[in-house]
Amino acid sequence: FTKLLKLEADEVARTADGHRVSLFINSGMGFDGEYAEQEHIEGIGLYRTEYPFMMRQRFPSEQEQQLLYQHVLGEFSGKPVVMRTLDVGGDKQLPYFPIVEDNPFLGWRGIRLTLDHPEIFLVQIRAMIKANVFTNNLHIMLPMISDIGEVEESNRLINQAYNEVSEELREADHAAQVPRPKVGVMIEVPSILYQLKQLKGLVDFCSIGTNDLTQYLLAVDRNNDKVAHLYDAYHPTVLNAIKTIADVTNEIGIPCSVCGELAGDPGGAMLLTGMGFTQLSMNTQNLLKVKWVLKKSNSEELKDLVEDALDCTRPDQVKFRVNRYILNIG
Ligand code: PEP
Ligand code: MG
Repeated sequence: FTKLLKLEADEVARTADGHRVSLFINSGMGFDGEYAEQEHIEGIGLYRTEYPFMMRQRFPSEQEQQLLYQHVLGEFSGKPVVMRTLDVGGDKQLPYFPIVEDNPFLGWRGIRLTLDHPEIFLVQIRAMIKANVFTNNLHIMLPMISDIGEVEESNRLINQAYNEVSEELREADHAAQVPRPKVGVMIEVPSILYQLKQLKGLVDFCSIGTNDLTQYLLAVDRNNDKVAHLYDAYHPTVLNAIKTIADVTNEIGIPCSVCGELAGDPGGAMLLTGMGFTQLSMNTQNLLKVKWVLKKSNSEELKDLVEDALDCTRPDQVKFRVNRYILNIG
C-alpha cells in the first residue's frame, strides 16, 4: 500500500471518472521546501502565521517577518501561497501578549484582535506585500471574520499598507509596480454564512475552516474533553452548512476552498468533492490517503453520497454511508 502511494506521489488528484481536485498543504513552520517541488501539490492553502509568532519572545519586526514570508513564497514560487493574518486568542496564546478572558473562544480572537491593534496588522501586511515583490504568489487570508464590516475595515488597512509599501519602494528606486495581493476570508464563524452574498466585490476567494465552523455551529469547545464526543464535522448540520457555502460561493463566483481538518480526512474529502469543491488543503501526512480515495471514487456517485448524507439525522449515519462506499471501492 505504501509503495503504491509513493508511486502516485507526482500525479495530480483526480476521481476515477477524471474529475480534477487540486490539493494544497497546510503549513506554518517554513520547512516545506521538499513539498514545493512535488507536482501534485499545487501550493499552500493555509499558512498559519501565528506559529512563528508563538515561537518567539516578542513580536517579530517587519523585517523579520518579511524575511520569513519571502522564504516561504520563494520556495513555492510559481504556486499560490495563502498566508493567514495572525490568528491568536482562543487556545493560541503568545507568551508576550497574554489574554485573560472567561470565554476565549468567544472573545478576542483572530481578526478582532488585529483590527483593535492596527499597528500589528499593518506591520504584518506590509511585510507580506514586500515579501511578495519578486514572486507575486501571495494570497492574504483573514481569520475569524464574523461580519462584512470587518472585511471592509481589513481591506481599508490592506490598501493603506499597499500604498505605503509602493511609496517606500518607489523612493528606494524600485521601478516595477508592486504586485497587489489577492485577499480572502476564512468562513468559520456561522454568522458570516448569512452574509456570504455580500462578500461579492469585497474578496477574491474564501476558504472554509471546518474546525472552528464545527465548534461554533454545534456550540462545542474543540478542546473540552467533557463534550469532545459532541464535536463532529460529520454532523449533518455541519455538512448542510458547508454545502450551502459551496452553492452560494459558486453562484456569486467566488472561488472557495476548504482548509479545516475535514479536507484532510479521506471520507471528508470525498464528501467535499461530492459537494462540488475542487480545492482542498490539508496536513501533508493526509495528502496521499486523500488522493488515493479520490482516485477510486466516481464524482457522480459522490454527489449521491452527499445527498444521502445531508438527509441523515446523526453523524454515525453519515459515517456508516461513507465507510460503506470506501469498502466498496476497495
Ligand atoms: C479551522 O478553523 O478549520 C482552521 C483551519 O483554522 P484553525 O484550525 O487554525 O483555527
Ligand atoms: Mg480556525
